[in-house]
Amino acid sequence: MINVLILGGTSEASALASAISECEIPAIFSYAGRVKAPKAQPLPTRVGGFGGVAGLVAFIKQNQITHIVDATHPFASQMSRNVLAAARQTGVPAIALTRPAWASNACDNWQHVASIEEAVRALECPPQRVLLAIGRMHLAAFSSQPQHHYVLRLVDQPTTPPPLAHFTTTVDRGPFTLEGDLALLKNQRIERIVCKNAGGEGAISKLEATRTLGLPVVMIERPTLPPRHEAHSVDEVLVWLKTSYG
Ligand code: NAP
Repeated sequence: MINVLILGGTSEASALASAISECEIPAIFSYAGRVKAPKAQPLPTRVGGFGGVAGLVAFIKQNQITHIVDATHPFASQMSRNVLAAARQTGVPAIALTRPAWASNACDNWQHVASIEEAVRALECPPQRVLLAIGRMHLAAFSSQPQHHYVLRLVDQPTTPPPLAHFTTTVDRGPFTLEGDLALLKNQRIERIVCKNAGGEGAISKLEATRTLGLPVVMIERPTLPPRHEAHSVDEVLVWLKTSYG
Protein backbone atom coordinates (compact mmCIF):
# COMPACT_ATOMS: atom_id res chain seq x y z
CA MET A 1 0.00 0.00 0.00
CA ILE A 2 1.26 3.45 -0.93
CA ASN A 3 -0.37 6.79 -0.14
CA VAL A 4 1.56 9.95 -0.98
CA LEU A 5 1.01 13.36 0.60
CA ILE A 6 1.99 16.22 -1.73
CA LEU A 7 2.40 19.65 -0.15
CA GLY A 8 1.62 22.01 -2.99
CA GLY A 9 1.35 25.63 -3.99
CA THR A 10 3.83 25.65 -6.90
CA SER A 11 3.69 24.80 -10.60
CA GLU A 12 6.12 21.93 -9.90
CA ALA A 13 3.65 20.48 -7.37
CA SER A 14 0.91 20.63 -10.01
CA ALA A 15 3.15 18.89 -12.57
CA LEU A 16 3.89 16.19 -9.99
CA ALA A 17 0.18 15.75 -9.22
CA SER A 18 -0.53 15.16 -12.94
CA ALA A 19 2.28 12.62 -13.22
CA ILE A 20 1.23 10.78 -10.06
CA SER A 21 -2.37 10.69 -11.22
CA GLU A 22 -1.32 9.33 -14.63
CA CYS A 23 0.70 6.61 -12.90
CA GLU A 24 -2.39 5.84 -10.75
CA ILE A 25 -0.39 6.20 -7.54
CA PRO A 26 -2.76 6.95 -4.62
CA ALA A 27 -2.04 10.44 -3.27
CA ILE A 28 -3.55 13.42 -1.46
CA PHE A 29 -2.73 16.99 -2.53
CA SER A 30 -2.58 19.73 0.10
CA TYR A 31 -2.98 23.49 -0.33
CA ALA A 32 -2.46 26.07 2.41
CA GLY A 33 -5.54 27.94 1.17
CA ARG A 34 -3.88 31.28 0.47
CA VAL A 35 -5.55 32.01 -2.89
CA LYS A 36 -9.26 32.28 -3.68
CA ALA A 37 -9.35 29.79 -6.55
CA PRO A 38 -6.42 27.38 -6.39
CA LYS A 39 -5.66 25.36 -9.50
CA ALA A 40 -7.79 22.20 -9.56
CA GLN A 41 -5.73 19.01 -9.19
CA PRO A 42 -6.37 15.52 -10.61
CA LEU A 43 -6.00 14.11 -7.06
CA PRO A 44 -8.09 14.23 -3.88
CA THR A 45 -7.33 17.67 -2.48
CA ARG A 46 -7.48 19.15 1.01
CA VAL A 47 -7.10 22.84 1.87
CA GLY A 48 -5.80 24.57 5.02
CA GLY A 49 -3.08 24.26 7.63
CA PHE A 50 -2.71 20.99 9.54
CA GLY A 51 -2.19 22.65 12.92
CA GLY A 52 1.59 22.62 13.22
CA VAL A 53 3.80 19.55 13.48
CA ALA A 54 1.36 17.75 15.82
CA GLY A 55 -1.50 18.26 13.34
CA LEU A 56 0.61 17.06 10.44
CA VAL A 57 1.69 13.96 12.38
CA ALA A 58 -1.97 13.20 13.17
CA PHE A 59 -2.93 13.69 9.49
CA ILE A 60 -0.15 11.35 8.35
CA LYS A 61 -1.31 8.65 10.78
CA GLN A 62 -5.04 9.06 10.11
CA ASN A 63 -4.56 8.88 6.36
CA GLN A 64 -1.90 6.15 6.44
CA ILE A 65 0.50 8.32 4.47
CA THR A 66 3.53 6.31 3.33
CA HIS A 67 5.52 9.05 1.52
CA ILE A 68 5.63 12.86 1.76
CA VAL A 69 6.65 15.16 -1.08
CA ASP A 70 7.31 18.74 -0.02
CA ALA A 71 6.70 20.66 -3.24
CA THR A 72 6.04 23.99 -1.55
CA HIS A 73 7.58 27.30 -2.58
CA PRO A 74 11.22 27.86 -1.49
CA PHE A 75 10.01 30.64 0.84
CA ALA A 76 7.44 28.41 2.56
CA SER A 77 10.07 27.48 5.13
CA GLN A 78 7.73 26.87 8.07
CA MET A 79 5.86 24.16 6.16
CA SER A 80 9.16 22.61 5.04
CA ARG A 81 10.46 22.55 8.62
CA ASN A 82 7.19 20.97 9.78
CA VAL A 83 7.55 18.26 7.12
CA LEU A 84 11.04 17.42 8.36
CA ALA A 85 9.87 17.24 11.99
CA ALA A 86 6.78 15.16 11.16
CA ALA A 87 8.82 12.77 9.00
CA ARG A 88 11.25 12.30 11.88
CA GLN A 89 8.45 11.66 14.37
CA THR A 90 6.50 9.22 12.20
CA GLY A 91 9.35 7.54 10.31
CA VAL A 92 7.54 8.31 7.02
CA PRO A 93 10.11 9.15 4.31
CA ALA A 94 10.02 12.67 2.85
CA ILE A 95 11.56 14.31 -0.18
CA ALA A 96 11.56 17.96 -1.26
CA LEU A 97 10.92 18.81 -4.92
CA THR A 98 13.07 21.90 -5.35
CA ARG A 99 14.20 24.20 -8.13
CA PRO A 100 17.55 25.96 -8.43
CA ALA A 101 17.71 29.60 -7.38
CA TRP A 102 17.97 32.25 -10.11
CA ALA A 103 21.48 33.59 -10.76
CA SER A 104 22.39 36.99 -12.15
CA ASN A 105 24.67 37.54 -15.12
CA ALA A 106 26.98 40.41 -16.09
CA CYS A 107 24.09 42.40 -17.61
CA ASP A 108 22.10 42.37 -14.35
CA ASN A 109 22.03 44.90 -11.56
CA TRP A 110 20.90 42.89 -8.54
CA GLN A 111 21.21 43.88 -4.93
CA HIS A 112 21.09 40.68 -2.86
CA VAL A 113 19.32 40.90 0.49
CA ALA A 114 18.63 38.22 3.09
CA SER A 115 15.15 39.16 4.26
CA ILE A 116 12.07 41.33 3.74
CA GLU A 117 13.43 43.74 6.37
CA GLU A 118 16.67 44.15 4.40
CA ALA A 119 14.68 44.67 1.21
CA VAL A 120 12.80 47.48 2.94
CA ARG A 121 16.09 49.08 4.02
CA ALA A 122 17.39 48.79 0.45
CA LEU A 123 14.64 51.20 -0.57
CA GLU A 124 16.00 54.08 1.53
CA CYS A 125 16.24 56.40 -1.47
CA PRO A 126 14.28 59.22 -3.13
CA PRO A 127 10.80 58.34 -4.43
CA GLN A 128 10.60 55.73 -7.15
CA ARG A 129 7.98 53.57 -8.80
CA VAL A 130 8.71 50.10 -7.39
CA LEU A 131 7.25 46.77 -8.50
CA LEU A 132 6.74 44.60 -5.41
CA ALA A 133 6.52 41.04 -6.73
CA ILE A 134 6.58 39.35 -3.32
CA GLY A 135 3.00 38.19 -2.80
CA ARG A 136 0.64 39.77 -0.31
CA MET A 137 1.92 38.52 3.05
CA HIS A 138 4.69 41.05 3.77
CA LEU A 139 3.46 44.20 2.06
CA ALA A 140 2.93 46.09 5.33
CA ALA A 141 6.70 46.12 5.98
CA PHE A 142 7.12 48.55 3.08
CA SER A 143 4.95 51.18 4.79
CA SER A 144 8.15 52.44 6.47
CA GLN A 145 9.34 53.66 3.04
CA PRO A 146 6.24 55.73 2.22
CA GLN A 147 7.96 57.92 -0.38
CA HIS A 148 7.63 55.28 -3.11
CA HIS A 149 4.73 54.40 -5.34
CA TYR A 150 4.37 50.62 -5.13
CA VAL A 151 2.94 48.50 -7.93
CA LEU A 152 1.76 45.25 -6.34
CA ARG A 153 1.48 42.13 -8.45
CA LEU A 154 -0.99 39.83 -6.66
CA VAL A 155 -2.89 36.62 -7.41
CA ASP A 156 -6.15 37.99 -5.92
CA GLN A 157 -7.44 41.53 -5.44
CA PRO A 158 -6.79 42.29 -1.74
CA THR A 159 -9.97 42.32 0.37
CA THR A 160 -8.48 45.01 2.63
CA PRO A 161 -6.09 47.55 1.12
CA PRO A 162 -2.44 47.19 2.16
CA PRO A 163 -1.23 49.94 4.54
CA LEU A 164 0.84 51.71 1.88
CA ALA A 165 0.53 55.43 1.15
CA HIS A 166 0.73 55.09 -2.65
CA PHE A 167 0.06 51.89 -4.52
CA THR A 168 -1.51 50.32 -7.59
CA THR A 169 -2.48 46.65 -7.80
CA THR A 170 -2.22 44.40 -10.79
CA VAL A 171 -3.95 41.03 -10.45
CA ASP A 172 -2.41 38.18 -12.41
CA ARG A 173 -0.97 34.73 -11.86
CA GLY A 174 1.93 32.97 -13.53
CA PRO A 175 3.32 31.64 -15.68
CA PHE A 176 4.23 35.13 -16.92
CA THR A 177 5.76 36.10 -20.28
CA LEU A 178 8.60 38.42 -21.27
CA GLU A 179 6.23 40.37 -23.51
CA GLY A 180 3.70 40.80 -20.69
CA ASP A 181 6.31 41.76 -18.12
CA LEU A 182 8.00 44.26 -20.45
CA ALA A 183 4.58 45.86 -21.00
CA LEU A 184 3.91 45.97 -17.24
CA LEU A 185 7.28 47.56 -16.43
CA LYS A 186 6.94 50.13 -19.22
CA ASN A 187 3.27 51.00 -18.69
CA GLN A 188 3.74 51.36 -14.94
CA ARG A 189 7.01 53.30 -15.43
CA ILE A 190 8.77 50.96 -12.98
CA GLU A 191 12.22 52.09 -11.84
CA ARG A 192 13.15 49.17 -9.55
CA ILE A 193 11.72 45.78 -8.67
CA VAL A 194 11.74 43.83 -5.41
CA CYS A 195 11.27 40.07 -5.67
CA LYS A 196 12.03 36.75 -3.99
CA ASN A 197 14.56 34.34 -5.45
CA ALA A 198 11.90 31.77 -6.21
CA GLY A 199 13.75 30.09 -9.10
CA GLY A 200 11.92 28.14 -11.79
CA GLU A 201 10.49 29.19 -15.12
CA GLY A 202 7.04 30.56 -14.23
CA ALA A 203 8.18 33.93 -12.87
CA ILE A 204 11.61 34.40 -14.46
CA SER A 205 10.36 36.69 -17.24
CA LYS A 206 10.30 39.74 -14.93
CA LEU A 207 14.08 39.35 -14.55
CA GLU A 208 14.56 39.06 -18.30
CA ALA A 209 12.46 42.22 -18.62
CA THR A 210 14.58 44.13 -16.06
CA ARG A 211 17.71 43.01 -17.97
CA THR A 212 16.24 44.32 -21.23
CA LEU A 213 15.31 47.66 -19.65
CA GLY A 214 18.44 47.96 -17.46
CA LEU A 215 16.43 48.18 -14.23
CA PRO A 216 17.84 47.41 -10.78
CA VAL A 217 16.48 44.46 -8.79
CA VAL A 218 16.36 43.96 -5.03
CA MET A 219 16.63 40.17 -4.81
CA ILE A 220 15.49 38.57 -1.55
CA GLU A 221 17.48 35.37 -1.15
CA ARG A 222 15.94 32.13 0.13
CA PRO A 223 15.64 31.18 3.77
CA THR A 224 18.05 28.40 4.69
CA LEU A 225 16.67 25.01 5.66
CA PRO A 226 18.30 22.03 7.37
CA PRO A 227 19.86 19.47 5.00
CA ARG A 228 17.14 17.29 3.46
CA HIS A 229 16.55 14.74 0.74
CA GLU A 230 15.87 16.68 -2.47
CA ALA A 231 14.76 15.94 -6.02
CA HIS A 232 14.98 18.46 -8.84
CA SER A 233 12.41 17.02 -11.22
CA VAL A 234 9.09 15.21 -11.26
CA ASP A 235 10.81 12.15 -12.75
CA GLU A 236 13.28 12.04 -9.86
CA VAL A 237 10.37 12.01 -7.39
CA LEU A 238 8.68 9.19 -9.32
CA VAL A 239 11.91 7.15 -9.25
CA TRP A 240 12.20 7.78 -5.48
CA LEU A 241 8.60 6.64 -4.94
CA LYS A 242 9.00 3.54 -7.09
CA THR A 243 12.37 2.65 -5.52
CA SER A 244 11.27 3.10 -1.94
CA TYR A 245 7.88 1.44 -2.55
CA GLY A 246 9.34 -1.44 -4.54
P1 NAP B 1 4.79 28.83 5.42
O1 NAP B 1 5.01 30.18 6.03
O2 NAP B 1 5.94 27.93 5.30
O3 NAP B 1 3.66 28.05 6.21
C1 NAP B 1 2.84 28.62 7.21
C2 NAP B 1 1.77 27.62 7.53
O4 NAP B 1 0.86 27.49 6.43
C3 NAP B 1 2.30 26.21 7.75
O5 NAP B 1 2.84 26.05 9.05
C4 NAP B 1 1.04 25.41 7.51
O6 NAP B 1 0.13 25.56 8.58
C5 NAP B 1 0.40 26.14 6.34
N1 NAP B 1 0.81 25.60 5.04
C6 NAP B 1 1.79 26.02 4.20
N2 NAP B 1 1.80 25.30 3.09
C7 NAP B 1 0.82 24.38 3.21
C8 NAP B 1 0.32 23.34 2.36
N3 NAP B 1 0.82 23.12 1.12
N4 NAP B 1 -0.71 22.59 2.84
C9 NAP B 1 -1.26 22.83 4.06
N5 NAP B 1 -0.84 23.80 4.89
C10 NAP B 1 0.18 24.56 4.46
O7 NAP B 1 4.08 28.99 3.99
P2 NAP B 1 3.77 30.32 3.14
O8 NAP B 1 5.04 30.94 2.78
O9 NAP B 1 2.70 31.09 3.83
O10 NAP B 1 3.17 29.64 1.82
C11 NAP B 1 1.86 29.09 1.84
C12 NAP B 1 1.62 28.35 0.55
O11 NAP B 1 1.77 29.24 -0.54
C13 NAP B 1 2.58 27.19 0.35
O12 NAP B 1 1.82 26.09 -0.08
C14 NAP B 1 3.53 27.68 -0.72
O13 NAP B 1 3.95 26.63 -1.57
C15 NAP B 1 2.68 28.70 -1.48
N6 NAP B 1 3.47 29.81 -2.00
C16 NAP B 1 4.25 30.55 -1.16
C17 NAP B 1 4.99 31.60 -1.67
C18 NAP B 1 5.88 32.43 -0.78
O14 NAP B 1 6.51 33.39 -1.28
N7 NAP B 1 6.00 32.14 0.50
C19 NAP B 1 4.94 31.88 -3.05
C20 NAP B 1 4.14 31.11 -3.87
C21 NAP B 1 3.41 30.07 -3.35
P3 NAP B 1 0.05 24.50 9.79
O15 NAP B 1 1.27 24.74 10.62
O16 NAP B 1 -1.24 24.83 10.46
O17 NAP B 1 0.07 23.14 9.16
